[in-house]
Amino acid sequence: MTSTRSRFVVAVGAMLLLCLAAGAALPVSLQAQEPETPPPLSLDDLAALDALIDEDEATDNAVAEFDSGAVIDVAVLSAVLAFALFSFKKRSEPLKIVSWVLSIGYLGFYKASLVSVVDIFGALRASLPAFQDGQAYYLLIAFTLASTVFWGRLYCGRICAFGALTQLMDRIIPSRFRIDPPAWVDKRLVYLKYIMLGSAVLYFLASGDTLVYRYIEPFWMFTLNGNTVMWTLLTVLLLATVFVRNLYCRYLCSVGAGLGLLSNLTVFKIKRWGECSTCRLCEKTCEWGAIDGPKILVSECVRCDDCERLYADEDKCPHWLIKKHVATRAARVG
Ligand code: SF4
Ligand code: SF4
Repeated sequence: MTSTRSRFVVAVGAMLLLCLAAGAALPVSLQAQEPETPPPLSLDDLAALDALIDEDEATDNAVAEFDSGAVIDVAVLSAVLAFALFSFKKRSEPLKIVSWVLSIGYLGFYKASLVSVVDIFGALRASLPAFQDGQAYYLLIAFTLASTVFWGRLYCGRICAFGALTQLMDRIIPSRFRIDPPAWVDKRLVYLKYIMLGSAVLYFLASGDTLVYRYIEPFWMFTLNGNTVMWTLLTVLLLATVFVRNLYCRYLCSVGAGLGLLSNLTVFKIKRWGECSTCRLCEKTCEWGAIDGPKILVSECVRCDDCERLYADEDKCPHWLIKKHVATRAARVG
């Protein structure tokens, strides 16, 4: 009993001693953690501090400007794309022309941002821009791919600035200059663009050189930054386009070839009437050689809507004229 009590007393004593020791040590450790009073700043130190603050503010402003620039890019691009879609849905020639002008002005000369074979190279080597640095770029790519799957080569028909430029040229240049290649030549020439695409990809895979785009695509022209060979090739191309409408798009464009392949998945195709196999009015209207009798060649069609407007015209399309004629006769007989 005694020994138990004495052990208790010893333990309590030890605890008290420990507490006292800790209490004594605590102010020392708190004192040790207290910061020392800094020495007063000199004028030089203050100037250096000011410079640092200015630098931080400049960086913050640059980030803010970058973000607002990216937001504006995405907003304006969305408006251009939405307008193109609206003009397509309205099947309106004047709206389509406005859409071309927007594409040439904004996507062509202002942004110089078009889908290019370089994007295919980038996808092949998985080196596309980081998303946070290229929201507008990804919006354009996503729109192009999605619209191709939904409707076909809508990108070629309204968004691509070079395609818009050559289609606009076609509206301005008098038709007496035009040479339409015979159908059998046209049917073979359309395969050239697939050869261009395949050769460009093989060349890239073998050499890693992406700069080949400068000699197979005219899109660089919107940056107004080419060498003598590039300007010469472009001049020849544009001169040839005066005579053969949409020459580059129909026969030479690698991007058009890629989208042509993708457009085989098109969900919403152009409707055809039973009369289309014999009528051929649309076939003659199509500037892209994309109608063959009753068939629409989806890989060539750019959804320009020329045939669709004719197709819906009850005063021109034989489908409606025959229908009206049959109805009138039935009314007479009745
Ligand atoms: S075929 Fe090529 S150049 Fe023509 S509209 Fe399409 S992407 Fe543009
Ligand atoms: S006329 Fe018709 S088939 Fe020809 S490109 Fe235009 S939408 Fe396509």
